[in-house]
Amino acid sequence: MKSMYCAALALTLGAISTQLQAQQNPFSIAIHGGAGTISKAKLTPAQIAQYEAKLAEAVNAGYAVLEQGGSSLDAVSKAVTILEASPLFNAGVGAVYTYDGAHELDAAIMDGKTLNAGAVASVRHVKSPIQLARLVMEESPHVMLAGAGVEEFAIAQQLPLVTNDHFSTDSRYQSLLKAKEKLRKNQKHSHQAAVEALPLDYKYGTVGAVALDKSGNLAAATSTGGMTAKRYGRVGDAPIIGAGTYAENGVCAISATGHGEYFIRYQVASDICARAKYQQQPLAKTADVVINQVLVEAGGSGGVIAVDAQGNVSMPFNSEGMYRASRKSGEAAVVAIWK
Ligand code: ASP
Repeated sequence: MKSMYCAALALTLGAISTQLQAQQNPFSIAIHGGAGTISKAKLTPAQIAQYEAKLAEAVNAGYAVLEQGGSSLDAVSKAVTILEASPLFNAGVGAVYTYDGAHELDAAIMDGKTLNAGAVASVRHVKSPIQLARLVMEESPHVMLAGAGVEEFAIAQQLPLVTNDHFSTDSRYQSLLKAKEKLRKNQKHSHQAAVEALPLDYKYGTVGAVALDKSGNLAAATSTGGMTAKRYGRVGDAPIIGAGTYAENGVCAISATGHGEYFIRYQVASDICARAKYQQQPLAKTADVVINQVLVEAGGSGGVIAVDAQGNVSMPFNSEGMYRASRKSGEAAVVAIWK
């Protein structure tokens, strides 16, 4: 009897001490709303305030999840869902148009604790691609779903479908018209050359979040409409695990934004993590090297948000700006657009 009592007491004390430890452990979150040639001159003070307010709302919502002891997966899902619902960013509502005048969305989420991941590509009718990606991770035996099967899976998961124009905004439509005009002018060149000649603005925009929770678990999530005027079912880096999204406990959580083709070819997210892991370098250092040296030399522009196992945040980018925000345990949120 006495030994049963002692065992129960030990279990209870163990649980209390784990809880207390978790409460003291550092936690943090960082988010982005895309990198690009965000020219200061083109944004009015009112527009800047709108972007900053939405970034603050998303980072604070994710932070609240972590503060209450929630998981990093829940925190990044929450923050990305808020950004997807905002027409300001190229993800969910406000996604860019394909060449054919539709929206095709990509998203991925990764759990650093288990290395489980879920990704969806070319989604046309699901309101929150990041929530769908999470269902792929948690409710399917697969990592990535693409094309028509995505919607079939969403129906099986009882997610409500939306018409494709749910994601439409006039400003993105105007960008499509401009991009097509530029492509038409370059049509004597190959499709590849014409796309490459498009100004960087047409190749950008994504949202993402990375977080460390009180239990030491890292997670990353990314969601995007991809590239304006994309054709032929083009899929970017966001849903490619290791390119635009990666998380591994003890090492890193990364979400990228930028010219996706480079991020896929240079495996940007996993390269940053692998350098930190095998070279025993701080994550902030390896993120900076990959974004500001490797990618710059290759001609790939963009940036990443990164959080390490201690909750340190870094957000390097080699473009003019990157919409971003971060918040570490016990600190206020930091919101920024330019360097
Ligand atoms: N990386 C995204 C893509 O290529 C776009 C972006 O992040 O700006 O689809």
